[in-house]
Amino acid sequence: RESQAKKFIRQHMDPDSYPNIGSSYCNQMMRRRDMTKGRCKPVNTFVHEPLVDVQAVCFQEKVTCKDGQSDCYQSSSSMSITDCRLTNGSKYPNCAYRTSQKKRHIIVACNGNPYVPVHFDGSV
Ligand code: C5P
Repeated sequence: RESQAKKFIRQHMDPDSYPNIGSSYCNQMMRRRDMTKGRCKPVNTFVHEPLVDVQAVCFQEKVTCKDGQSDCYQSSSSMSITDCRLTNGSKYPNCAYRTSQKKRHIIVACNGNPYVPVHFDGSV
């Protein structure tokens, strides 16, 4: 079975596409990374920074996760991200997304040994 760390990479890491992000980026990437199987995943963020820089966030500022209980970590630098959001009229299996390019501090949860990102909590 896919590890949580591998799943984070599949769902959230795309270091190489930036800055060539077009309006169909999310439509293609959400499908290519298997987030449109069974249902259209409603919101998903891709991070366009080197994996080592995203892994390093596990050792940056500790913040509370959206669930209000677990520990998350906020990146000290703002990072290049693409926010993918399902459009209102989109009906499975035709998952249609709005692609928004942003620079934000990312917030992730980490786990394991090595201690690596396993969940994307949001961006600020
Ligand atoms: O916030 P919520 O619990 O609905 O998020 C569910 C999932 O959506 C997260 O685990 C994450 O994979 C994804 N997400 C994201 N970027 C955000 C918010 C949520 O990738 N800004």
